[in-house]
Amino acid sequence: MPADVRAARTACPKHMEYGPCGGVGFDGSCEIDEALRCPFVDGAAIAWHGVVAETGGGPSRGADPLPDPTPSPGAARVRDLLATRRIVVADFPARALDARSLAACVAAMSGPVDAVLSGDAGPARVQFAPSYRARLIADEGMLPFIGVNCRDRNRVALEGELAGLAHAGAGVVHCVTGDHTETGSRPDAKPVFDIDSTQLAALARAAGHLVSVGESPTTPPVGQRAARLREKEKAGADLCFVNHCGGAQPVARFIAEARALGSTSGFIPCIPIVLDEGSAHLLRTFTTLVLPPGYLDGILRAADPRAAGIVAAVELSRAMLALDGVVGIDLSGGAAPGREVEHARDLAEIARRLEDEL
Ligand code: SF4
Repeated sequence: MPADVRAARTACPKHMEYGPCGGVGFDGSCEIDEALRCPFVDGAAIAWHGVVAETGGGPSRGADPLPDPTPSPGAARVRDLLATRRIVVADFPARALDARSLAACVAAMSGPVDAVLSGDAGPARVQFAPSYRARLIADEGMLPFIGVNCRDRNRVALEGELAGLAHAGAGVVHCVTGDHTETGSRPDAKPVFDIDSTQLAALARAAGHLVSVGESPTTPPVGQRAARLREKEKAGADLCFVNHCGGAQPVARFIAEARALGSTSGFIPCIPIVLDEGSAHLLRTFTTLVLPPGYLDGILRAADPRAAGIVAAVELSRAMLALDGVVGIDLSGGAAPGREVEHARDLAEIARRLEDEL
């Protein structure tokens, strides 16, 4: 590991090697320590150099070549789908640790929505294990995209989950470093951060998965975000979820920058879903959230915020789907407590209105 990368890794509370994380402040401050300038924001993107063991035992995974993966059945399903049309993914609104809520939400969304993204949630950090969630969702008839974070498991536990996810039918494994435990509902827990999202992408690819990662184009270092994605692709990423960055124009700019660097990703921009004050509150908790000007207020001040939120999401989705390189959209956000199934129905309604654009 290069010396400057080692120094940055030592300073970073998440011990990231391929930083920064998506939570870095707009002023370059650390997500969890405002007094710390994130050590990754002022330099070039860290070049992909493999998954390196911290213990001094040498690389545990080579940078190149990666082992030939055996595609998981879920990954093959998604590749087939993406070969025919664009897709609608939706953040999964089901209550954590509640299989009945999970089944009810799948029933409400199945059909118009192609896949659900079930990942980390600040207000509900304790969830069914990723591979078990994938199996539950797949058994109910929905294609699961499963978020896996590096906060709660070390590399060995993650490798076990990745093997389980391939077996359980995960269509995509979405690799994130994860918010620190000092944010979210479980500050009592010790964070792990044995590896980071880029390294996790490599492990997921090696396990045969279709791999997605996130990038935040408007978060420092803005000029390095596309280059950072390129390094994640070298590690194993196939798809990029573009976090909320202010609308279709910033997404188009980001895709153009990435393509100029040789990016091969399919892009899935996040669409903010605001249907009431509860879903707006949840969206505001997202780190580095940038919404199109007036988006939130326009919905919440409408006579019927739910109807206005559906119309706004459809319009923004259409603008995103018109961009070169966009292979789908992600209806992003969450439900107000107790409105999980209604929220799922509204997501299905948004997806239904987009059928002609896919
Ligand atoms: S902002 Fe993220 S990457 Fe940067 S130092 Fe803080 S935790 Fe590490």
